[in-house]
Amino acid sequence: MTYQALQINKDDNGYHCTVQTLDDSPLPEGDVTVQVDYSTVNYKDGLAMTGKSPVVRKFPLTPGIDLAGTVTDSQHPLFKAGDKVVLNGWGVGESHSGGLAQKARLKGDWLIHLPSAFTPRQAMAIGTAGYTAMLCVMALQKHGVTPDKGDILVTGAGGGVGSVAIALLAKLGYRVVASTGRQHEADYLRQLGAADIMDRSELSAPGKPLAKERWAGVVDTVGSHTLANACASTKYGGVVTACGLAQGMDFPSSVAPFILRGVTLAGIDSVMAPRALREAAWARLAKDLDPAQLERMTREVGLADALALGSEILAGQVRGRVVVNVNA
Ligand code: NDP
Repeated sequence: MTYQALQINKDDNGYHCTVQTLDDSPLPEGDVTVQVDYSTVNYKDGLAMTGKSPVVRKFPLTPGIDLAGTVTDSQHPLFKAGDKVVLNGWGVGESHSGGLAQKARLKGDWLIHLPSAFTPRQAMAIGTAGYTAMLCVMALQKHGVTPDKGDILVTGAGGGVGSVAIALLAKLGYRVVASTGRQHEADYLRQLGAADIMDRSELSAPGKPLAKERWAGVVDTVGSHTLANACASTKYGGVVTACGLAQGMDFPSSVAPFILRGVTLAGIDSVMAPRALREAAWARLAKDLDPAQLERMTREVGLADALALGSEILAGQVRGRVVVNVNA
């Protein structure tokens, strides 16, 4: 039985990602086989498809850190044929072939059941980006950031994590300030729930160790000077959730916000998050994410179209979320 998949190779022709017709023999080890309905393109998939950063650790490999589909065969006690499932992370699409294919073989320990609130397409519209946004919101709440405490800054607002974070926070009653390099997307960001828009250039240059106190909480998808400036302008006792590196991996900050203002820096990782936390995040997404807002931020492409999106997402040109219909 053959199936279509994106495949990354690194050989004498260099690093390249193409659509291939594969048979079952290259399917990796695993105890659950999934017929994939939808996947998506996240920032990390862009890194994998282009080779801009060495996230892929074996070749050939199918990219795609997310998938939603139907179990066709399982030796895992939690899953049986016919179950609808979702996969986010666990190194899939990096060291184990992933979701940008019509078929995948995975470890059942990595899967969760598709929440009944979502179709496979909606689950992939959320994807790792949306589930990570939810982890950020949950971390803000865990550390006591309530809507009455003040404004929440969301950086990289026009991207996937940023868009979902805005929609979630606005629905929960927070006042959201969206930082973006795309002022022409201001209407889109306001429709998602942003109360104010700021130009990302206000945050992206080297800044002072402490600045005027502005934020009760931050969802930062950008890293580097932006994260440092976000910490420096967070109010006394506020919380900064750091999940991304779209500007850079560096963190050119000082300890001042932490030791003089009691700011908490909360690191967010979606890839290795334990099952209980994943299930909690997906349950919260079912409750707190408006499906109409999710649809507003989502567009759909076919498997071959996903190839071009790798470099577009790294260039910050993808708005919101993209779902990939792997059967189109
Ligand atoms: P997107 O590309 O969709 O969003 C990133 C956004 O950041 C862009 O849309 C753009 O928004 C902004 N941006 C891009 N380049 C720059 C730059 N040079 N300086 C400042 N801002 C920039 O990616 P995702 O939303 O999928 O992911 C966002 C980040 O979060 C990535 O770094 C990703 O690796 C990370 N991530 C981490 C996870 C984790 O587990 N910790 C899980 C998921 C994602 P705008 O145009 O509005 O300014």
